[in-house]
Formats: sequence, C-alpha cells, structure tokens
Amino acid sequence: MTQAGERLEAVRSTVMRAAKTAGRAPDSVTLIAISKTFGAEAIRPIIAAGQRVFGENRVQEAQSKWPDLKADHPDIDLHLVGPLQSNKAKDAVALFDVIHTIDRKKIAEAIRGEMERQGRVLKLFVQVNTGEEPQKAGIAPSDADAFIAYCRDDVGLELEGLMCIPPVDDHPGPHFALLAGIAQRNGLTGLSMGMSSDFEDAVMLGATHVRVGSAIFGARQPVAIQEA
Ligand SMILES: *Cc1c(COP(=O)(O)O)cnc(C)c1O
Repeated sequence: MTQAGERLEAVRSTVMRAAKTAGRAPDSVTLIAISKTFGAEAIRPIIAAGQRVFGENRVQEAQSKWPDLKADHPDIDLHLVGPLQSNKAKDAVALFDVIHTIDRKKIAEAIRGEMERQGRVLKLFVQVNTGEEPQKAGIAPSDADAFIAYCRDDVGLELEGLMCIPPVDDHPGPHFALLAGIAQRNGLTGLSMGMSSDFEDAVMLGATHVRVGSAIFGARQPVAIQEA
C-alpha cells in the first residue's frame, strides 16, 4: 500500500474510533478526502485504496482533473468545499455532487436555477462563519436562521446541513457546538466540520462530514494564487 493509502487507513480508523467513543454508528460519519492542489497521479492511489468521497475548494482546479477520474469511477461523490461565485454556478452544478458553501441569496438562487436547467439535484450545505471573521465566507451566526428559512421557503432548496471552518487560532470545540446548535434548532441533520487537525473532536461533537486533506495526502505545496 502507498504511504497515502496508509494515512487514509489511519484517518479512517480514527474516525471510526471517535464515532464509537461518542456512541455513534461508524457509518454516520462521511470522510471527505480533500484533494486540492494534488494531481490525478496522487488521487488515483487513494481511489485504489477504496476512497470514493473527495472534495475540492476551487471549481476551475477541479475541472482540470475530475471529469476524467469520474469517468473512470462513476461512483465517486465530489464535494465543493470552497467559496463559490455565481458565474461558476453552472460549472459547479455540472461537476459536483455536493456543495458545502451556500452563503448568499445570489448563490442559493443561482444553484437552484442551474439544478433546474441541468436536471441535477445536489446536496447542499449552508456555510456559517462561526468566528465572524471578516475575510471568511459564510453567513453570520445571527443571520443563519433567516438565511436557512430563505433558502427553504423562498428559493425552494432542500438543505442537507451546515458547514463551518473555525478560526485557525481558536479552540474548534465551541465553533462545532455553535454550528450543531444552529442545525438542531433548524431541523438540519448534516454537520460538515472537522479538518486534519481537529476531525476527531468534530466527530465527538456530532460531525456527519469531516473534510480531511493533509492528513491523507501529506503537506500541500504553497500554490500560486489561482482564480476561484
Ligand atoms: C483545505 C480544506 C480542508 C482540508 O484541510 P486539511 O487541514 O488539509 O485537512 C477542509 N475544508 C476546507 C474548506 C478546505 O479548504
């Protein structure tokens, strides 16, 4: 098995152990392997090791590698976990199966329109900016209830759950708990939270989707700024 394959196995068993400790079913947590910055040659061994759920943070980057990989493995589930511009909604709906970053009315409406036009139904998460960081995407916690209601009642979207990226310098626990509280009071069951450094905590606090990149693929090389 490759080194990345071994790291994948280690992450999987940590997820299962955390779920068990939390009294949850192991299959109640979906591990999303975040392959951003890595090319198809790094992704194929992870597919060969049995992983079928992957995530990317840029539409354009994903378009450069996933159409071929998906053609070879039609059972792959591809998640968009990075910010989305409405002019990319068409491409995003065509390529991805799940979007974690619905955070503005314009995006919600654009995604709804594209799903209708393309006859595709994606699973959708609303991103909440739990740390209220000005540079970060996501709806403010105090605006989340109203935004969720807007997506459901005005746009007619069926939502899967909520997603957050806690501030790097904070303890993630309170952010995960805040997200879980907003989800619960809105009747949402999906919780996309937890990355390489904190996915175990996230599972303990109810994550249904953990987004793990470097713990599987290894450290990312710094990349030149790309267009979103
Ligand atoms: C890159 C990224 C991840 C994975 O980060 P790691 O720390 O490498 O696990 C998770 N979520 C989002 C939104 C990301 O952009």
